[in-house]
Formats: sequence, structure tokens, C-alpha cells
Amino acid sequence: MQTIRIERTACPKEKPGKENPLTFGTIFTDHMFEVDYEEGKGWYDPRVVPYHKLELEPSSMVFHYGQEMFEGLKAYKTEEGKILLFRPDKNIERANRSNDRLCIPEIPEELFLEALKTVVSVDQDWIPTKPGTSLYIRPFVIATDPFLGVRPSHTYKFMIILSPVGAYYASGLDPVKIWIEDDYVRAVKGGIGEAKTGGNYVASLAAQVKAHEEGYSQVLWLDGVHRKYIEEVGAMNIFFKINGVVITPELNGSILPGVTRDSVLSLCRDWGIKVEERKISVDEIVAAARSGEMEECFGTGTAAVVSPVGELRLEDERMSIGGGKIGELTQRCYDTITGIQLGRLTGPEGWSVEVK
Ligand SMILES: *Cc1c(COP(=O)(O)O)cnc(C)c1O
Repeated sequence: MQTIRIERTACPKEKPGKENPLTFGTIFTDHMFEVDYEEGKGWYDPRVVPYHKLELEPSSMVFHYGQEMFEGLKAYKTEEGKILLFRPDKNIERANRSNDRLCIPEIPEELFLEALKTVVSVDQDWIPTKPGTSLYIRPFVIATDPFLGVRPSHTYKFMIILSPVGAYYASGLDPVKIWIEDDYVRAVKGGIGEAKTGGNYVASLAAQVKAHEEGYSQVLWLDGVHRKYIEEVGAMNIFFKINGVVITPELNGSILPGVTRDSVLSLCRDWGIKVEERKISVDEIVAAARSGEMEECFGTGTAAVVSPVGELRLEDERMSIGGGKIGELTQRCYDTITGIQLGRLTGPEGWSVEVK
């Protein structure tokens, strides 16, 4: 593997003060990782360099055709001062599945992992340690050919930036209110819903704005063909607990395969809880919420880990779930996953990867 060159900053930035609670995604560390790609040459000159502005041609293809992939994972500092990544192999695998769908060249797994470890290690003093905080890691690739015309780019830049973060929702683990969206859709099977890419997010904005205007924090997405089956909630996967059974939509080609989703499924199975990955219709959810059989509902994703849902709104009907409190299973998933991430609990083999 190529060695990663390190160029340290001559003027380190001031780190966020201990007094102010950290927000999400507003502060960036002193360094970043960068590697370039050229057809015929492959990925070349991997380096950790001071965090800097980019200079790109306005004609760079990413600006016009959205050829872009991103990932999201976190690093934690344990009480003993070890630095842990949570299941980075899963993000690397998914990044390359997204790349494949988006006609972006594959990133060698070994280089990807080494890049994560190196940049996190260089900026390890930026990893916050207060409860609920972590270092969010954002790897992403952009198409850089200066060209107007639709085809895959011949050149790319892969970068990793880091951001010390607090709770994703300022309200912490408070249950959120969800708007069931039956007009706009996020993705359709055959499209790019399975890939982690900006295009899926811009597709979601109009519905999010509409939900916010109505006083709801996230959108519950239905499938693009029938507007009938549950897909995801905002930018998270969704779980329901109905009559003791944990149910989540099956990966159907338009749902993003979350690492947190996979972790929750695997923990529930270990705990002997009955788990189903299947189609779930909005009618089934509404009936279970109305009858009170819906015990819990929560979203899962790296940013928030789990996010309890306290209310569902469909057209004019408001359905309350769990009496506005966080459910027992939701809390157990949160405590266990964050416990493993912080090195307080031992997770399944390979879930914690140490940065030396
Ligand atoms: C990233 C993402 C998720 C959550 O995936 P994690 O790997 O658990 O962070 C869910 N849905 C969408 C649309 C996403 O982009």
C-alpha cells in the first residue's frame, strides 16, 4: 500500500471550549485526508494535510451532475484513552457499493482504513469526551473533470474531514414528531436510494421543509411506487416494536443499508427478541398505533444512534406512541451501542477497531 504522507499545520485552531455544548457539524479539525484519482493512474498521493479550502474549476462535474459519494462514522475516546472506530469495515464496504452504483472508481479497502486511522490519529486531541459527544468522520468523493456533458468523470478527489460533535438533535433522546409523507418520495427501486450520495438528500428537502412548517422534525418516507410501504425516517432507518416483535423494512433496493440498522438487528437477535425484516404497510402502522399495539418506534443512524419517535402524523390524524417517553428497547439499543462505542461494553467481534 502507498504510504500516507503527513503535513502538519503550522497554526492549529482553537478547540471548542469545554463550557459550550457541541452542536453537530459546525466545527472542523486542523487536518484532512486527501487522495486524487486519474484514469490509468489510479489513486495517487494519499496525504493528511492542514484543513483547507478547495480550488476547483467551476466546470467540475460534481457541481453539475452530482457525481458524489459520502460516508459517515464516528471515533470515540475511551476512559483509558484508547481511540475506537465503530465498525469502519461496514462503512468502507458500503462506500464501495455506493461508488459502484455512481460509476466512481473503487477505493482500496486497505487505503481507506489506513486513511481513517491516520487522520483521526493526527487530530486525536480533537476527540471530545463529554457524554453524548464524539468525533464525526465524513469521507467523501467528488468528480473533478472540468467538463460539461454527462458521463462518468475521469478524475476524482477522495477526502476525509472530521468534526467534533454533540447530540445530533439538540433535544437529545427526546421523542421526535414524524410527518408521514404521502406525496413526495425519497427514492425508488432502481434509482440511487441504496447509495449514500448527496442526490438523495436534495430529493428529500422539499418534504422536510413542508414537515418543518407543520411542526414536525422528520419525514417518514413511503415507497415510490405504491406510496404504501414504509421505507425510512428522514436520513435514518426505522424500527417498530409491535406486540413484542421488532420490525424494520427489508432492504428493497431503495433503502439505505444503515450500519446502525444492522447493529440493532444483530443485538436484538442476540437478546432473543423476535425480529422481522419485511414489507410494512402504512395501514399496518396506523392500525397498530391506533390500537396501542405499537409499543415503540425509533430511527437509527450514526449521527443520533437511535432517535425515538413520539408521534406520527398522517393527513389530519395524530398518533401518539409510547406516551411521549423513550421506550425500553430504544433505550437498551442506545445504551448498548454507545457502551460498545465508548469501550465500556464488549461488542461482537470486529465492532470496535482501535486507532493506534
Ligand atoms: C446514512 C443513512 C442512514 C443511516 O446509516 P448508518 O450507517 O446507520 O449511519 C439511513 N438512511 C439514509 C438515507 C442515510 O443516508
